[in-house]
Amino acid sequence: MAGSVLVTGGAGYIGSHACLALIEAGHPVVVLDNLCNSSPESLQRVGQLCGEEPLLVRGDIRDRACLDRIFAEHDIVAVMHFAGLKAVGESVEIPLEYYDNNVTGSLTLLAAMQAAGVNNLVFSSSATVYGDPATVPISEDFPLAPASPYGRTKMMVEQILTDWQCADGARNVALLRYFNPVGAHPSGRIGEDPRGMPNNLMPFVAQVAVGKRDRLFVFGDDYPTADGTGVRDYIHVMDLVEGHVLALQDIIAGPGLRVINLGTGRGVSVLDMVRAFEAASGRQIPYEVVQRRAGDIAACWADPGRAAQLLAWRASRSLEQMCIDSWRWQSDNPRGYG
Ligand code: NAD
Ligand code: UDP
Repeated sequence: MAGSVLVTGGAGYIGSHACLALIEAGHPVVVLDNLCNSSPESLQRVGQLCGEEPLLVRGDIRDRACLDRIFAEHDIVAVMHFAGLKAVGESVEIPLEYYDNNVTGSLTLLAAMQAAGVNNLVFSSSATVYGDPATVPISEDFPLAPASPYGRTKMMVEQILTDWQCADGARNVALLRYFNPVGAHPSGRIGEDPRGMPNNLMPFVAQVAVGKRDRLFVFGDDYPTADGTGVRDYIHVMDLVEGHVLALQDIIAGPGLRVINLGTGRGVSVLDMVRAFEAASGRQIPYEVVQRRAGDIAACWADPGRAAQLLAWRASRSLEQMCIDSWRWQSDNPRGYG
């Protein structure tokens, strides 16, 4: 594939790993990121790891002139669209910022792509679009019922992209619904660097292990699951980004719309995660069971069959590997990118 991939949100957690995977697969990248939740240090480290630092354009996906300049100045053949806000709880507090960033931002990006004749897009969606599923595992044809403004922004952008693809058969779109991305590059040089109090389980556990927080709060142990704690499908970020590279190559090879779950197909409880992290880190993870978190569901894991069939992709890294790599990143970089 000749030309570059525009990676929006490429300085962030998943985007930085995706840049590395793209460059290593031979696809040059240009990053557009406003750095509202990331540091340019992540891209410098990507450069150290693969010998080619991604070009960073500091700008916003809602800035049409900035997008037009990027498409005019670079030979962009495809876009991987990670940029957006992602905290479920915050989206309830400030919904307009979520709709503006995630929905208006995606519309502006698409209009600029259309003007520049760029037809290939891989979009970061989320398993949160399924809401509380009637059964597990979850396959792509399950009804969509997101329970938060954040989830609704993802569902809306999926709908917009479906209509955009449908309007012109030359357009190619992959909607990738991630389950719970965790872990870090095995070098320990890039990883997840949440600002303030982490919302998600794995970074919280990692911060307890490194001594930054004194204990984990387990949100409920009275769910109808084997040990009573919430069950999720944690997927190693390296598996996730390898799925993106394959999805990109797939849409470039053949037109159309793909909707694909990226998960392992395995459910892991909060207490399973605590035990696995203790084993990987050699540290104790003190925890306290507190009440359920509003809006949480009991259990959620993927049917990953479509990804296997369409992309010949399967998550291969174990829970142990996720914890080892997360711990390496956390212990080597206790203050994140600083
Ligand atoms: P992240 O916050 O680390 O990365 C997002 C990046 O986008 C950041 O670098 C941020 O600075 C940038 N950004 C935000 N708004 C922007 C804007 N308007 N213009 C330009 N840049 C902007 O988050 P992440 O975990 O890497 O997530 C990447 C994508 O994957 C997001 O769209 C998120 O919703 C989606 N996703 C993440 C998870 C997860 O658990 N991490 C799960 C499902 C889906
Ligand atoms: N969780 C927890 N304590 C925390 C963060 C999360 O007990 O500090 C639980 C949460 O209730 C859920 C699981 O861990 O059962 C995964 O939560 P996360 O926020 O990481 O992912 P999501 O709920 O968005 O799938």
